[in-house]
Amino acid sequence: MPTKRHTLPKITVLVVDDHAVVRQGLKMLIHSDPNLRVTGEAEDGLAAVQLAGKLHPDVVVMDVAMPRMNGVEATRLDPVSRAPVGRLRVDAPLVVVAAGVLGSAGLLRRSGLPGDAIGGGLQLHTSLHVTALFDEPVHGYYGPTMAYAVTEFADVNGRTGPGFMIENTAVHPIATASALPGFGAEHAARMGRLPHLARALVVLRDRTRGRVDVDATGRPAVSYELVPEDLQRLHDGMIAIARAYLAAGAREVWLPRNGAPPVRSEQDLRAAGAGPLEPGRTSLLYAVHLFGGASMGGGAASACDEAGRVRGVRGLAVADAASLPSNTGVNPQITIIANALRIAEGLASERHG
Ligand SMILES: Cc1cc2nc3c(=O)[nH]c(=O)nc-3n(C[C@H](O)[C@H](O)[C@H](O)COP(=O)(O)OP(=O)(O)OC[C@H]3O[C@@H](n4cnc5c(N)ncnc54)[C@H](O)[C@@H]3O)c2cc1C
Repeated sequence: MPTKRHTLPKITVLVVDDHAVVRQGLKMLIHSDPNLRVTGEAEDGLAAVQLAGKLHPDVVVMDVAMPRMNGVEATRLDPVSRAPVGRLRVDAPLVVVAAGVLGSAGLLRRSGLPGDAIGGGLQLHTSLHVTALFDEPVHGYYGPTMAYAVTEFADVNGRTGPGFMIENTAVHPIATASALPGFGAEHAARMGRLPHLARALVVLRDRTRGRVDVDATGRPAVSYELVPEDLQRLHDGMIAIARAYLAAGAREVWLPRNGAPPVRSEQDLRAAGAGPLEPGRTSLLYAVHLFGGASMGGGAASACDEAGRVRGVRGLAVADAASLPSNTGVNPQITIIANALRIAEGLASERHG
């Protein structure tokens, strides 16, 4: 006689994230387990509370940062009455902070961790752009964002240069407009030549060290004053790019200096002076590669030990660019990912052997 098969009801899951791609990935993951079923999805906390009241899922997988209502607020609301129910407290034997240099250092400082090491050791790859005008169209808004890097002046991978890289970059309208020198009609005329423009940037391996603190509202506040040596190397990098563009046949090169005339020859380059860079006159001085603020190191002066654990606090680690001890001198994503993996594997093997 055939036996009747009893199947347990599936565990129902509500997926909440403001990014459709993330929701899609989570759904695929959840559906790969035969015991789980996604009953609904929402793109913010408010929609999640409404759906939870209707669908009564067994589990809600919810992002923290979302528009309209974040995941923490939503988790505190009763799905039927929508009234806040108590406080939300998370007890975890291990907390790994990975909110980026400003986010992580800011969080640790806001949490009242003592000592100068937290927030200290901030380093950047300070950057500036040089733009060149060619007779031929370049159409630099198509193709890869960065196609070439000049490592001749770098001080990584066996190089003994002064410590900057030159990278070409895309000529997207907004990014180009924000970095071009000049104002008003002059700026508009330069933007009018967009199809004929090429751009490159200096990625400086700064010697400067700064700090991340928090202001009165709890937001990260950065102090970072470029040392004279870095200002000189920024100037030298700027001139090196201009020289490369002249050699490549540029009609004009525009240094990132408000009010400066176009460079058309070596003579013009000499007239541009020997440096150092004047930050106040520079059309755009910026950094998208940040390091430190909770640096790892062997000595007690570093915020984290070599395994990424925050010194003096049990169960707290930092696993992002904040824990890197210095700037890398090259685009850092891969190093950051490798370091985060190393820290995660170390912490996991400590806990589970
Ligand atoms: C425009 C641009 C272009 C770049 N191009 C390159 C490149 O071509 N190659 C390269 O190697 N690198 C590049 N970088 C640098 C690279 O993106 C960063 O170095 C790297 O992402 C830093 O990694 P991270 O994990 O430290 O921080 P992030 O990647 O910034 O991650 C931190 C995360 O924490 C979240 N967060 C912050 N505060 C909080 C909080 N209080 N609570 C919860 N979450 C929080 C943030 O939303 C973010 O998702 C670029 C950066 C920019 C901005």
